[in-house]
Amino acid sequence: MNLPRPKNDELMFLPLGGSGEIGMNFNLYGHAGKWLIVDCGVTFGDPLYGSVDVAMPDIISIEEHANSISGLLLTHAHEDHIGAVHHLWPYLRCPIYATDFAAEVLIRKLKDVGLEKEVEINIIKIDSKIKIGPFDIEIISMSHSIIEPSSALISTKAGTVFHTGDWKIDYNPQLGEGIDHKRLKKLSNENILAMVCDSTNVLVEGTSGSEEDVIKPLTNIIKESKGRVFVSTFASNVTRLNTLAKIGLSLGRKVALVGQSMWRMTEIAKACGYLSNLPSFVSERDIKNFDKDKILIICTGSQGEPRGALNRIAHGTHRDVTISNEDTVIFSSRVIPGNEVSISEMQNRLSELGANIIESTNDCLIHVSGHPAKEELAQMYSWVKPKTLIAVHGETRHINAHVKYALGQQISNAIPGRNGSLIQLAPGEPRFIGELEHGRLIVDGNDLITRNSEVIKQRHKMMYNGSVHAVLLVDNDYNLLSDPSVMAAGLAEIIEDDNPENFIKNFIKDDIKSYYKSKKLDKNYIEDSMTLALKRIIKVKYMKRPLLKLEINILN
Ligand SMILES: [Zn+2]
Ligand SMILES: [Zn+2]
Repeated sequence: MNLPRPKNDELMFLPLGGSGEIGMNFNLYGHAGKWLIVDCGVTFGDPLYGSVDVAMPDIISIEEHANSISGLLLTHAHEDHIGAVHHLWPYLRCPIYATDFAAEVLIRKLKDVGLEKEVEINIIKIDSKIKIGPFDIEIISMSHSIIEPSSALISTKAGTVFHTGDWKIDYNPQLGEGIDHKRLKKLSNENILAMVCDSTNVLVEGTSGSEEDVIKPLTNIIKESKGRVFVSTFASNVTRLNTLAKIGLSLGRKVALVGQSMWRMTEIAKACGYLSNLPSFVSERDIKNFDKDKILIICTGSQGEPRGALNRIAHGTHRDVTISNEDTVIFSSRVIPGNEVSISEMQNRLSELGANIIESTNDCLIHVSGHPAKEELAQMYSWVKPKTLIAVHGETRHINAHVKYALGQQISNAIPGRNGSLIQLAPGEPRFIGELEHGRLIVDGNDLITRNSEVIKQRHKMMYNGSVHAVLLVDNDYNLLSDPSVMAAGLAEIIEDDNPENFIKNFIKDDIKSYYKSKKLDKNYIEDSMTLALKRIIKVKYMKRPLLKLEINILN
């Protein structure tokens, strides 16, 4: 179906990303002819697609309706909520609403693509009320693993929805305002039609833990370490960085930062008034000037990213920083699903260099998640008492488990968010009313292309099967005028007497003769038929299906 024009008594919800995967959150609310977008994020690339680093929602179903979009509200500055704005804004062209910190992060991204002067960014304050088109919105403070996380209470003439954004319950968040539980408790009296809620950790029992819980274990580990201490964490987790810096300083260690994004995020945080009570950080170049037991190094690359700081240190390719025997590497971060192999490879390298590796365990909690576990979800239901729960922000298994969990917790109606499935929240019982086109766009060089694009299919084929390109130069009677030119890249190993290119050349020289007898001397026919024959013998000999192009040039 096409994107409908919501009537004055209607309230609709449409997720186009983040409901069926972790990442690339993109949600829409529709009322009185207008749409409000909440978040616009990316997800990590899929190794299946080779060079692709990031992917984002395909917004084809709303592009033609850009003039009915009132605005884009950003709940916080994590990449899965903000990272697609500079890619997709040219198709939306709507005003953006963000807190100070998210706006600062966004402006730097917009500058990278030369859009900073075109985009209207409105700074919103936590605990304030704003109006975006027909939507009256109250911004309520939450706690999460980044500063200034917010939820949105979206009121319309057709009803009120509570959009949680990413959250957890942390009464001691260490930095920032934390969750406004007093305000949230009052929502139970405000007839909340639906709560659109984070499902990431619905499979986790208990609670996620407080930022305060990591202070003691981290202090103990750093106190007992003799050499350099490296702590790897997410650059956007400014709170953790603040916690670590305070611990380091209290133990007589100066604090250094390693990794471009770590410096970028701290610069933004300082510009927004955070981290002001910390002394300047030691630069990467100056680390060597400090005794090993007088420095704490906070670095990026906890996921084993090839270009991440920690991976470069592990491989001995970092310009300024080395690691050696008796050094300690603390992973104050979680393993993002899919990164297990690259992390363990990096940890093996670090271990070879003699480093002591420490990860978070139940007995030694050095990382806490930013998303609500079961008990926190139940607490939030009891504060808000929504009539309907809509589960978003998770893979399908998380979303379905969240629906089941909510129904078991006295929520009378729970609906799974599904990318592209339009839900009518009012009037009447909330229900699915149609499917809209949706999918993924991936960044390919300077372009945004769909997952099904021909170029991706070709690259995929080349990655696993290689490619073969053959050119024949013939006269009018299809006699070869020279040896065929053949390039077989990535097809098979050259073994002394078995060179794949020679094998293909010999086949072509033989095969062309068969067409003389048949008298079918037509260029297209021979090209097609020889391509098929070549595919067949390559399959038989090498068990491969390469990307194959064969062309015949006739010299008159
Ligand atoms: Zn987040
Ligand atoms: Zn998120």
